[in-house]
Order: sequence, then C-alpha cells, then structure tokens
Amino acid sequence: DFYEEKPSISGMTEQDVTEYRNSSKIRVSGFDVPRPVKTFDDCGFPPPLMSAITKQGYEKPTNIQCQALPIVLSGSDIIGIAKTGSGKTAAFVLPMIVHIMDQPELGKGEGPIGVICAPTRELAHQIYLETRKFAKPYGLRVCAVYGGMSKLDQFKELKAGAEIVVATPGRLIDLLKMKALTMKRATYMVLDEADRMFDLGFEPQIRSIVGQIRPDRQTLLFSATMPRKVEKLAREILSDPVRVSVGEVG
Ligand code: ADP
Ligand code: MG
Repeated sequence: DFYEEKPSISGMTEQDVTEYRNSSKIRVSGFDVPRPVKTFDDCGFPPPLMSAITKQGYEKPTNIQCQALPIVLSGSDIIGIAKTGSGKTAAFVLPMIVHIMDQPELGKGEGPIGVICAPTRELAHQIYLETRKFAKPYGLRVCAVYGGMSKLDQFKELKAGAEIVVATPGRLIDLLKMKALTMKRATYMVLDEADRMFDLGFEPQIRSIVGQIRPDRQTLLFSATMPRKVEKLAREILSDPVRVSVGEVG
C-alpha cells in the first residue's frame, strides 16, 4: 500500500482519521494526504494569526477547513469542493499568510506573492475584506482589483506595492497589460469559485493569468461544483493536487 499518511499532529490514529473524515463527510484523494486537524491550534499558526482568528469569532475549523488547512500548509496543490457558506475563504487565506511570511525574499522584489481570482466584484470584495483581517497583524498589503472602481487608483496602488492581490480575471488582465504589476514573485495562486468563473466565460483570462505565474507556484482551486471542463483545467494547471470534497458535492 503506497498510501501513507503523514504523522498526526493531533494524536489521531489511522482509524480515528477515517472515522473523523466519515463523520465530517470529508472525502480525500491523492498521495501523502495529511490528517485533518480538529482545532486551529493543530495548524501551528503563529500567535498573531491565532489572535486574528479568535477576533473573527472562529472557534474551530469548519469541515472543509479541517482537511484543507493541513493539505495547503503542507505546500500541496489542492482541489477543494464544498458548498457555499462552508468556509472556503479562510481555508486558502490563512495558509496564504503563512506562505507569504515564510518567503525569504519578503520585502525584496516587487509584485504580489499571493494572487486570488474570483468571478465577481462582490465575491472579490468579500475575499478582500476577510484577507485584510488576517493580513493586518503582519502589515501585509492587500490590493483589490476589480471593476466598478477606478482603474487608475488600482494602478497606483499596485505600483506602490502589495503582497496580496484579490482580483476578478478581466480587470487583472487589464492591469497586467498596463504593467501595473508583475507576476514574477507570485508563488501562491487561488482560483475561487472556479465553476462560476467558467460560467462567466473567464477561462481564457484564467489561462492567461496562470500562464504568467511561475510553474513552481502552489495552486489552489476551489469550487462548489466540479463540471468536467473545470476538472480538465484543474488537471492542466495544478500539479499532483490533493482533492478534498465535503458533503454530497464533487
Ligand atoms: P464559502 O466560501 O465556502 O462560501 P465563506 O468563506 O464565505 O464560505 O464563509 C462563510 C461564512 O462562515 C463567513 O461569514 C465566514 O466568516 C464564516 N466562517 C468561516 N470559517 C468559520 C469558522 N471556522 N467558524 C465560524 N465561522 C466561520
Ligand atoms: Mg467563497
């Protein structure tokens, strides 16, 4: 059996893990899948991030977070499938903060390290607000890039520097063309609500953006549903992803 799990950080036996996944309706596939966590403490987050989590009123991780957090923290690519309202945002934002703070070159170079794409300005704005709360204790700059706001202001903000960009694909492409930012430092890429981005016709933009990000990036794809065309894109742009689904979806 080549499927071997990493040592538990929460003292669970293999049987505990299976029972825990079943009771939380968590299904996983992939190699070396880390065990799910039961608490945010199990994730080993540094104190400023733990304080921000507490301040948000998050007492314990949601089902998708329990399994997705240790996977993403291990550096693996992920396909995360769970219905709306299940807490997918924190599942990619919290590990992103850890990823950025781990960069030896942080403070040097230019362009965002974390890039998050979402289908609509409303969704991008929600992600922006949540990201800001967790980025604040570290002084990380978050730039929102979507329509309905001044492109010139966004251009200036990007020029001034941001470690994190939350964007809709169309506006991000515009600003990349205007050379408002470079992707050469980006190593953490999130595609949120991938199914909706497809429905809105953003596939070419997504491919263009991903094509500008170095191949050794960590790539995360989250979706409420997993139609075949999204599965195909995921196969092309993620490397050896772990797939996690929660509930009846996927
Ligand atoms: P999704 O992206 O899966 O639709 P969200 O990330 O938008 O879900 O989260 C849905 C709601 O749940 C938000 O209001 C968010 O603040 C809240 N939430 C997320 N994680 C937790 C948690 N661990 N404990 C309590 N509330 C949470
Ligand atoms: Mg969401």
